[in-house]
Amino acid sequence: METKLITINNINTPAAQAALYEAAELICDGKLVAFPTETVYGLGANALDSPACAAIFAAKGRPADNPLIVHIADMDMLNELVVPSPLAIKLINAFWPGPLTLVLPKKPTIPDIVSAGLPTLAVRWPSLPLATALIKAAHCPIAAPSANLSGRSSPTTAWHVYTDFAGKIPLILNGGPTEIGLESTVVDACGKIPQILRPGRVEEKELAKASDQPISYTNLSSAKRPTAPGMKYRHYAPKGEMLVAHGLSEIMHLRLQLKEKYHQEPLLMVWAETAAQLPGEAEVLIMGKEGDLTSYARNLFAALRKGDEQHFSSLIAEAVPEYGFGIAIMNRLNKAVSQKVLLKKEL
Ligand code: AMP
Ligand code: MG
Repeated sequence: METKLITINNINTPAAQAALYEAAELICDGKLVAFPTETVYGLGANALDSPACAAIFAAKGRPADNPLIVHIADMDMLNELVVPSPLAIKLINAFWPGPLTLVLPKKPTIPDIVSAGLPTLAVRWPSLPLATALIKAAHCPIAAPSANLSGRSSPTTAWHVYTDFAGKIPLILNGGPTEIGLESTVVDACGKIPQILRPGRVEEKELAKASDQPISYTNLSSAKRPTAPGMKYRHYAPKGEMLVAHGLSEIMHLRLQLKEKYHQEPLLMVWAETAAQLPGEAEVLIMGKEGDLTSYARNLFAALRKGDEQHFSSLIAEAVPEYGFGIAIMNRLNKAVSQKVLLKKEL
């Protein structure tokens, strides 16, 4: 199958409208289309079409017990799919359209395959005009997990999607690099108190303020039967050994050990200020000016993919403070870390 890549800079041009029409027709025809959102690129299918959603799982190699997020573009679509709780209404008013996914009791309209058999459904109204224009053109909710092969980093450019799905899907809409770079915050809003299932751009304190409630964090690592089923799988794993280090001295220590082990410099994902202090000819990717979490998040998945493309045997990412948006960044870094953390323990 030939994979078409169409760039859309402005959705109001006749060429963009034609591309959106083509994409919508494919979706209505049960095919898969990758498209950008403000978080990451999604691999979309008509959420009401079971075989089309099954094709998402097959294309990604996604385990059947990892449910999909359904993307909508108006409140009518929401009401067709789920029963919004009073808490959900508060969060919707505060954050939609935007990078917040709500888990709510699902209606029978939605095929079981989408929610992996759960009685709940994850729903989001994205803010990127290109994404909402596609949903509106297709006249249906679009189920779209991140457009990466299962286990790889989420795609933040159309090129990342192409790398994983060339020849496997008919169309990728290219809207340039995504603004946020990390997947949405996922919140279970079925009860009275919001439960964060996956941290993201919308932070704990913003959720607490908007809902007038304390926030409960699901302890994802220790949960035996996780509420957020996708959380039990390893994500984002680069091919090389991946470590996270706190500050310059730990980075230098680990760099030396990895260099000895692999006879190759590790790829260092660090703040500009840290890079400036590194001795010797280090292999560096600058994640932003120190403390610029927006920039770190935007660069994170591309950096992990670069490690693979350039065949690095190992990578070290500089840790960020685990506070506010930093919680989401550290969540992704920790999931990318290799199981072999022997070197770190030796410190
Ligand atoms: P992705 O679309 O790849 O970013 O992954 C979607 C994630 O949303 C899943 O891995 C789950 O963590 C979460 N999710 C989707 N549906 C549900 C649900 N019904 N209940 C809890 N979590 C969900
Ligand atoms: Mg994903």
